[in-house]
Amino acid sequence: HAKRSGKGKIAPFVDSLEVTAHSRLELEIELRRALQHEEIEPHFQPIFLLHAHDLLAFEVLARWKHPERGFISPAQFIPVAEETGLILPLGMALLRRSCATASTWHRQGFPVGVSVNLSALQLRDSKLAQQVEQILKESGLPASALTLEITESVLMTDSAQNLAMLDTLSALGIQLAIDDFGTGYSSMAYLSRLPIQILKIDRMFVDRLTDHTKTHSRSARGDKAIIKAVVALARSQQMKVTAEGIENEQQATLLRQLGCDNGQGYHLGRPMGLAQADAFLKSYPTLANQGELLQRRAA
Ligand code: C2E
Ligand code: MG
Ligand code: MG
Ligand code: MG
Repeated sequence: HAKRSGKGKIAPFVDSLEVTAHSRLELEIELRRALQHEEIEPHFQPIFLLHAHDLLAFEVLARWKHPERGFISPAQFIPVAEETGLILPLGMALLRRSCATASTWHRQGFPVGVSVNLSALQLRDSKLAQQVEQILKESGLPASALTLEITESVLMTDSAQNLAMLDTLSALGIQLAIDDFGTGYSSMAYLSRLPIQILKIDRMFVDRLTDHTKTHSRSARGDKAIIKAVVALARSQQMKVTAEGIENEQQATLLRQLGCDNGQGYHLGRPMGLAQADAFLKSYPTLANQGELLQRRAA
């Protein structure tokens, strides 16, 4: 069991490798309670255009504000939420809150995008597209302001069913992103059939760009080549590239030079609670023009 931690700390709920049946069950029971009490809330990490520094969107990252244990990391509870099916109501609750928040920002004159993570189970739920459509309608958020992120590994496992769901989602006018790109084994032929607008390069590649301690410089060159290849692939498919996990200016500069469109990471902005994200958005000098972006994408 995790020890109590200080305020704001992410406490390891269970040892990630040795999850006992007892703690798993305990976590599931607590998760059900948390869902009812809305203890799991969206936090927001900014995503920027790498060249212009304009604020483009916020990625929504789930945070469990546990009354006794403090903040619990999504790495601890998302897997359990997936195994128990609780990810379905949880995912929808987070999407609803995120779209409502973004819609408020739009009405206040800050047309920022919002990017929400989707789990494998959600993608396989036949009601997903209908629910997304309903949430967009309720919130009044323009569909083009919503991105759904799906990890590459999930896209590779399935099938005709996934493909059909992606097409239905895409037809709503939202954007789709492949998360953690580069860690799976997608082929170009397969990618070209998917209605995807954004590739998010996994943090591992960004990390290795400037990590001269753990890896040989030859490996850093290799990672530059990989990023170049991803950028070329994206260009050929009219997709944008977002680099995640940017932790220093050197990485930001390199990624810009390599042609990445967007960037996200602790160096640019940490995930923030609602009040902090609201203040950040409203004091940030330049917002990416969504209309112009869409035009450029269409051209
Ligand atoms: P992800 O979608 O790839 O999100 C990026 C993760 O990298 C986040 O971790 C974020 O806090 C972290 N990160 C951002 N910038 C940096 C950086 O510069 N350095 C480092 N070291 N890390 C950085 P987080 O919030 O712990 O989330 C972990 C994963 O949990 C996410 O990975 C996503 O797969 C999943 N997740 C989070 N929220 C949700 C959710 O609402 N629904 C679902 N299905 N999955 C979620
Ligand atoms: Mg993500
Ligand atoms: Mg990611
Ligand atoms: Mg990740």
